[in-house]
Amino acid sequence: MDKCKLCQEREANQTGSHIIPFFLLKSLVNEDVKDKRDKETSFKVSSSDLVSFYMGRNLSPDKIEGLLGRELTDEEIQKNLNHYTCDNILCSFCEKRLQIIESQFNDLVYTKIPKANRISLNTKLKFTDNLKASPELIKLFFLSIIWRCAVTHFLNFKLDRSVEENLRNFVDSGLPDKVENLSNTVEFIKGRSKEIPMGVLYEEQPEDSTRNFCFIHQSNRAPYYFIFNEFVVLYYHKKKTFYREPDKCLGLEKLHFKGIINFREGVFKIGLVNKNDWEQFRASLITSVTRIISKRIENSFIRSYQNIKGFHPSPYLRHRAMKEITGGGDSNFVDNYTIKNVAKAFTHFMG
Ligand SMILES: [Zn+2]
Repeated sequence: MDKCKLCQEREANQTGSHIIPFFLLKSLVNEDVKDKRDKETSFKVSSSDLVSFYMGRNLSPDKIEGLLGRELTDEEIQKNLNHYTCDNILCSFCEKRLQIIESQFNDLVYTKIPKANRISLNTKLKFTDNLKASPELIKLFFLSIIWRCAVTHFLNFKLDRSVEENLRNFVDSGLPDKVENLSNTVEFIKGRSKEIPMGVLYEEQPEDSTRNFCFIHQSNRAPYYFIFNEFVVLYYHKKKTFYREPDKCLGLEKLHFKGIINFREGVFKIGLVNKNDWEQFRASLITSVTRIISKRIENSFIRSYQNIKGFHPSPYLRHRAMKEITGGGDSNFVDNYTIKNVAKAFTHFMG
């Protein structure tokens, strides 16, 4: 068995490790069987290779084969079983250490934001800064997720080796073996923590309908933008990039968030995005995701058609197939791209 990627000492015996802590995703991966709709329309998206569908569990592999015109690779099956967990990356000891900071973050930050203070940063953005958690704990929490995303290539996310190794070392040093030792370990990483610029934006009035995306914007690296449901984490992997104008990302840059980036901070600030701006951000995110999905489906349609018929589909046919895939609905609406509609259109036009 491989060694644990975090401590690099023990055997990586842990299965079902969450890449993103479950409490952040519970509305996204609702285990309730009655909630099949959510399962079929929840997408896992990255902007490099770009999309992989979340195949609802009620869709059997042979059905999927029928849809795609080929067998799923073992890797795809594995990936689709659960996007958000991984096996044999960590040891059970490190898994427990991660759970300590996750439950601390949940108790001291996540459940406290709704009632925390509000201060205006500018006309667009408010923030809260009186959470009971230390800045080091909050950074450790988010950096541990970013490190897990990097090490598992979640959403095809990768960091440069040296950056990933620095993060690993930081997280490994900051995690306590038991909760009583947390104040010691975070004190130990304090100096390093303050030199890592990080911003956190939170949807001020979260609604269930807006909590359904995990997205890593991969063309922008200054900062990296991680969208975990109702959180957006802005991570600067190099200090010098903090001094530049932030890269654009789905209109978030218009919030002028520099003032809530935590860098050599005394207290940790969390930016609160108002309902209106969050809705706009979500709309841009959906448009961007939809464009990615649509392009990918169209390419896959062209490839499959070529394989079966021996020639390319005409632009008109492509257009009709894409129309059928969205069920005649708006092609900018991500929920219209269901696996069922893709199946229907593929069999209709190639059968
Ligand atoms: Zn370990």
